[in-house]
Amino acid sequence: MIDEPQMDAPEQPGKDSDLGGFHVKTVYGPVSSWRLGRSFGVDPICREDKVCSFDCVYCQLGRTKEKTCERREFVSVDDVKKDLDEVLARVEADIITFSGTGEPTLASI
Ligand code: SF4
Repeated sequence: MIDEPQMDAPEQPGKDSDLGGFHVKTVYGPVSSWRLGRSFGVDPICREDKVCSFDCVYCQLGRTKEKTCERREFVSVDDVKKDLDEVLARVEADIITFSGTGEPTLASI
């Protein structure tokens, strides 16, 4: 019998994350990745409803509410940097993943 890898339940992207006693908006996790180790996610979209250029039937975020190919700034670089600095000063990570509430490459940051 092969043991399944144990995964912590990830924080919900797009919400303020509770990361061990402090709150950040654009960073969620940590998520335990079998391949990559301890991972923090950066959500450069940060919207309640998913923003994406597709509407994949298998998407874990549900149906696309805003379907667009237009790139724009959803959150500021300063906000992402501030959140990452705050998290990484207190919690170690092996990797940072850009993901979250939609297609991260739509963000122009
Ligand atoms: S977020 Fe990914 S899986 Fe979901 S609709 Fe967009 S491209 Fe598809």
